[in-house]
Amino acid sequence: MNAEIIAVGSELLTPFRQDTNSLYLTGKLNDLGVEVIFKTIVGDVQENLTAAARLALARADLVLFSGGLGPTEDDLTREAVAEVLELDLQRDPEIVARIATMFASRRIKMTDNNMRQADVIVGATILPNPLGTAPGQWLSPSFEGRDKIVILLPGPPHELHRMFDEQCLERLRAAVPPLHIATRLRKVAMIGESLLDSRIAPIYKRYPEVQTTILAAAGEIQIHLRARASSQDEAEDRVERLVGEIEDELDDAIFSRGEETLEQIAGYYLQMREATVAVAESCTGGLLGQRISSISGSSRYFRGGAIVYSNDLKTTFTGIHPKLIEEHGAVSREVATALAQGIRQRCDATFGIGITGVAGPSGGTEQKPVGTVYVALADRDSTQVIEKIYPGDRNRIRWFATQQALDMLRRKLL
Ligand code: AMP
Ligand code: MG
Repeated sequence: MNAEIIAVGSELLTPFRQDTNSLYLTGKLNDLGVEVIFKTIVGDVQENLTAAARLALARADLVLFSGGLGPTEDDLTREAVAEVLELDLQRDPEIVARIATMFASRRIKMTDNNMRQADVIVGATILPNPLGTAPGQWLSPSFEGRDKIVILLPGPPHELHRMFDEQCLERLRAAVPPLHIATRLRKVAMIGESLLDSRIAPIYKRYPEVQTTILAAAGEIQIHLRARASSQDEAEDRVERLVGEIEDELDDAIFSRGEETLEQIAGYYLQMREATVAVAESCTGGLLGQRISSISGSSRYFRGGAIVYSNDLKTTFTGIHPKLIEEHGAVSREVATALAQGIRQRCDATFGIGITGVAGPSGGTEQKPVGTVYVALADRDSTQVIEKIYPGDRNRIRWFATQQALDMLRRKLL
């Protein structure tokens, strides 16, 4: 079964209000095994509403409307749906009485337009609204010779959530063929999206029955896999076979099989190995220390460090010889190495991390353009340095640098 969601409201076509109801509904529908194939946002104009409704009914099995059920002139969802389905609206005396009681109990005078909320499309099941005045409606009409389900829900999110959960979920479950869903998430660090896809697309293309979604952020890619089947075992089996092949291909580039962040994983490994880390940060200005220390319990493995933005503090806090900076420049492989080694020693840590780079937007040169970053990781015996030119603005470059550092640490500890 597939669905279309129509979010009704002219305010949703302005920059000031966002349609969040459809996100909520999509999540719930997906869990039932219903795929959302279209979402429409339409203003409070009857002819546009009927056009959207007609199109949705022609192309989806299930059409959900959110909004436009209130008492005012511009609440037109009932009228539009009735028109498209060629059904009449009938005022329901029980709803009229209920709305009147609600006003009376709050000692507010009820204006006549409130009665519009009692207009029910003939044949609809009324969905009571425990949190507001406008009830919802459930219809099972035939449209162009096919059976459809149409649900009308009010716009205020708290009303819609509760009414969907309490009154629509079970009804839908009964109407939808039983489907079981298995999902897997894998997170990958420091591989570009196109490179990653070129490696795993040949694999997931062989599993068309599993939905593969790749979401990229700075220095991190999430691979979401989702399989549906008529039994849970079958769904698990499908997704497990694909995830197994992806893991074989990406191997240790995968850092998480759940929701964990890179700093959590790095921290977890440090703790397991009873190791500690210290940081000397130039262009990241403390961001790496912030990320490491954001994890509860990090005092067990995070020694601390220094923000060595100026050259003289690089010398004071990590013992770098000023000559080294003069010779190679502050942004250099040599200085990153010395920062990592120096801070490791001074802080008496198992590992030292040094970061130096050009976060921009100013300060770039031909040789070292904006985005050039050196990240060094030192232990007692050796130091590893990675040089990269990261894309993006200042924040993104700084984030990439910390992502690189955490990933180097993680790999070292594997
Ligand atoms: P309505 O049922 O059209 O009178 O909507 C009432 C209020 O609900 C609106 O003023 C919005 O603040 C909110 N609302 C309506 N539609 C949505 C939506 N799709 N997502 C989030 N909020 C909404
Ligand atoms: Mg509205």
